[in-house]
Amino acid sequence: MTAAVPERLDKFMARANAEYYASCDPFRDFVTAPEISQVFGELLGLWAAALWDLMGRPGRVIMAEAGPGRGTLMQDALRAIRQMAPAFHAALSLHLVETSPRLRVVQAERLEAAWHDRLEDIPPGPMILLANEFLDALPIRQWVRRNGLWIERYVADGAFVECLSAEDLGGAPDGRVIERCDVAHDLMRHLAARLGRDGGAALFLDYGPEHSAPGDSLQALRDGRPADPLADPGKADLTAHVDFAALAASAAPLGVVGPVPQGLFLARLGLFQRTDRLARGQDLQTAMRLVAASRRLAEPDGMGRLFKAMALCHPSLPTPPGFAA
Ligand code: SAH
Repeated sequence: MTAAVPERLDKFMARANAEYYASCDPFRDFVTAPEISQVFGELLGLWAAALWDLMGRPGRVIMAEAGPGRGTLMQDALRAIRQMAPAFHAALSLHLVETSPRLRVVQAERLEAAWHDRLEDIPPGPMILLANEFLDALPIRQWVRRNGLWIERYVADGAFVECLSAEDLGGAPDGRVIERCDVAHDLMRHLAARLGRDGGAALFLDYGPEHSAPGDSLQALRDGRPADPLADPGKADLTAHVDFAALAASAAPLGVVGPVPQGLFLARLGLFQRTDRLARGQDLQTAMRLVAASRRLAEPDGMGRLFKAMALCHPSLPTPPGFAA
């Protein structure tokens, strides 16, 4: 048997996830906030409407989403926008960034939009971008410190292969693991330049620590259960924690707000008031389901603490809703 040529971890992860999203139903493996409650997408829609207002109500604006999944978030957002901010609804054109042909079909059943493979392909102009659980799917690189040297992780035959790194990542104790998502950093630099030039804002919701923390956060979900990330590429969803602090540094000199815990962010946007209003007039079971869903999104032992919200904003904009008390 000949050994496979080792593939750098980010190349492996990009290939595995492209295959996974093209061939599997990711929503069998994990549940995301918009699939838990309609209120999530509605609040983000109203956040976008507030941003449009702060931007001076441009007559034409790009409303974009990266990694829209089933299109649920945007469908809920647009419904709320149509009701509460019809002038924004009339001004916006929808652009979706999605690489999976399979998910594009699902999205097209629910949304009228232009689709793009990459954020960089969205036409110029003022833009409001939403992205929930998008960054965590982007490919990471990993280094581990061994005997005072940095070793980069490659993958071959379902296992890590360690190769001496050409990059010096500074001093660290032996055994320390460091991750970096180069694609996400490129994206932040692109957005900083674009939003700085054309105006607008980008809101990211994802999971990761508030401050950069070393460690191995690569994980795989297969059939809804944790799995070996290196076995059977394309059969499991691979993710890693988002290093918000590092990404914020790449987005400078644009204004960055957050990260704030998702629970706090949603509560400030009126999660519980909106949930109460929806629950009123429903039968008891439906009302209790709505309340339970909102609590799951916001409570610290649900998604309220590990998930964070962070936004990039044109420097002329005041702090957007959700980021200040
Ligand atoms: N935002 C949705 C889906 C999250 S799953 C929700 O909250 O339910 C991740 C999404 O990002 C999927 O739609 C997936 O196909 C898409 N995706 C993953 N990697 C991508 C990439 N490199 N470029 C564009 N889209 C990507």
